[in-house]
Amino acid sequence: MPSAEIKQSAEQRREALKEVFAKAQTCVRCQELAATRKSVVFGAGNADADLMFVGEAPGASEDERGLPFVGRAGKLLDTLLEEIGLARGDVFIANTLKCRPPGNRDPLPVEIENCREYLYRQVELIQPRVICSLGNFSTKLLRDDPTGITRLHGRPEVLTLGRRAVRLYPIFHPAAALYTPRMLETLREDFSRLPELLALDAPEQPARELEPIPEIDVAEPGPSAANPSSGQRAGDVPLAQSHDAANQLDLF
Ligand code: URA
Repeated sequence: MPSAEIKQSAEQRREALKEVFAKAQTCVRCQELAATRKSVVFGAGNADADLMFVGEAPGASEDERGLPFVGRAGKLLDTLLEEIGLARGDVFIANTLKCRPPGNRDPLPVEIENCREYLYRQVELIQPRVICSLGNFSTKLLRDDPTGITRLHGRPEVLTLGRRAVRLYPIFHPAAALYTPRMLETLREDFSRLPELLALDAPEQPARELEPIPEIDVAEPGPSAANPSSGQRAGDVPLAQSHDAANQLDLF
């Protein structure tokens, strides 16, 4: 059967994304995060976007509002998007972790692994051509390699995430650029190359794209996760309320 016949329409993919969103709202893979979060910040924007951004993890404002990049770094991201003729509604913005690490500590490796499946599903369902990883955490996660952002920023490469081939374009995290004018200049330069990257043909897709996608288990890490032994895996923990969940859904 030609692949086009069994590919999902944008509307079907959006509906499937809403199902992943609903699952993520009840996720207890990381006990500490599930017990301390106010929201699961799934991500927001256009569910059929050509361009996706992946940051690190929600901070206090994002956790409060249930939306990604709503603080100062988010304002800078909005400005940079505007400068290349785009708005938030044109792109999809997500994070490596969907829950805020308490006290804004760095995400733990086991948390990154626990959350990887959600991010891969987002990529498989949104089908962006270009993904900008913002800063070190998401760049290292998506490239499965410890090379840092200072060496990699502004250098696009094709890679496969889950079942989807994309052009990964690592750039500095806007939060870092807020305090370092030279970094902001570099971030702006890297941003200015986005329109030409978006104009390229989409990368050829791997055959795996057509394999059935397994159900997400909200209590257990997905198949791509390493086998974490640090006891972070889920149990019966009380869930904080995701009071703004409905707002996130409105956004895609
Ligand atoms: N920084 C991130 O990496 N993500 C957010 O959502 C906000 C700030």
